Amino acid sequence: MHLETLAIHAGQPPDPAHGAVMPPIYQTSTFAFKAVGQPGEFDYTRSGNPTRKALEECLAALEGGAHAFSFASGMAAVSVALALLESGDHVLVHDDLYGGTYRYLTGVTANLGVGVDFVNMRDLDALQAAIRPNTRLLWTETPTNPLMNLQDLEAIADIARARGVRTITDNTFASPCNQRPLDLGIDISLHSMTKYINGHSDVIAGALIVRDDAIAERLKFLQNATGTALSPFDSFLVLRGIKTLPLRVEAHNANALAMAHWLREQPQVAQVLHPGLPEHPQHQLAQRQMRGVGGTFSFRMKSGEAAVRLLNRVRLHTLAESLGGVESLIEHPFTMTHASMPEEVRRAVGITEEMIRISVGIEHIDDLIADLAQAMA
Ligand SMILES: *Cc1c(COP(=O)(O)O)cnc(C)c1O
Repeated sequence: MHLETLAIHAGQPPDPAHGAVMPPIYQTSTFAFKAVGQPGEFDYTRSGNPTRKALEECLAALEGGAHAFSFASGMAAVSVALALLESGDHVLVHDDLYGGTYRYLTGVTANLGVGVDFVNMRDLDALQAAIRPNTRLLWTETPTNPLMNLQDLEAIADIARARGVRTITDNTFASPCNQRPLDLGIDISLHSMTKYINGHSDVIAGALIVRDDAIAERLKFLQNATGTALSPFDSFLVLRGIKTLPLRVEAHNANALAMAHWLREQPQVAQVLHPGLPEHPQHQLAQRQMRGVGGTFSFRMKSGEAAVRLLNRVRLHTLAESLGGVESLIEHPFTMTHASMPEEVRRAVGITEEMIRISVGIEHIDDLIADLAQAMA
């Protein structure tokens, strides 16, 4: 079935108890046993809950996975994925990635006896050379935040498979509508569902989606053991948001591409980083790997002062972190989302004062462009 249909129906048959058409919120911590030694399908909400199960079945269907696990945040999903590693293992990470993931890898994982190395995975020879005998995981994120670099997931998955290494992709920016990493050979797809999947900026949530039964079994154990699972109420909200995901992503894709085309004509703008533009160095890869490029991208003004001035003058766009909601958000990665990266790392990768990241919402594009025009005037 198509994504539009799966988003509305997968995991969500009418509720067996009363025929409710929408999955009920099973707001309970515990479930009655039938008799000693005879639990029902669920016993305790940390380990399983019907509302969360509906969401997880829907997520698995959308990504072409066999199993999905939902978590209290994207970072909870990151922490559980990294808990697949053990002391003595080594993880290779694409060198430009979400600031919170960088902080977790360097501030938590690296202190647990797990080797963490960063490598530019656009360079496949450098990637090959960086794999060690104890490398267990390759961590990708594409497109990257906020630099909009892509990694070739199919090529990376091939390299990893030949070396017996697992792969994970942070698919938050793309959403399952624009990119399906499991179809490209990646083992684990990760989402901050706080962004496009929920889409309404009212929930913090994360997900991991896999095909492999053995990885799924371990993730199921870790979800319960770490107590990081998503609550029934938040599961319901995300499931409600998902129903319109394909429609929303289409609107985000179109608005962001139109905005990128407008921005590159503005004399105050030095560079637009949007893989849908033909001058983007990985435009061909974007066309091959993604159905659409998404609603979030970055651009550089001619100076840091010009960037700050624009950010302080927008009216319809909200100056805020996060992305992927129906409303347009705009921010300054250097001082906001990426402030947790050491300054020399930010500068080395190109996250500098003149950069602006925009999450183009689904308002009318003419109103959004008019707002940026007045802010630049
Ligand atoms: C937001 C985000 C995360 C972290 O998710 P939270 O829901 O904020 O914990 C991870 N990766 C990417 C790419 C993100 O944008």
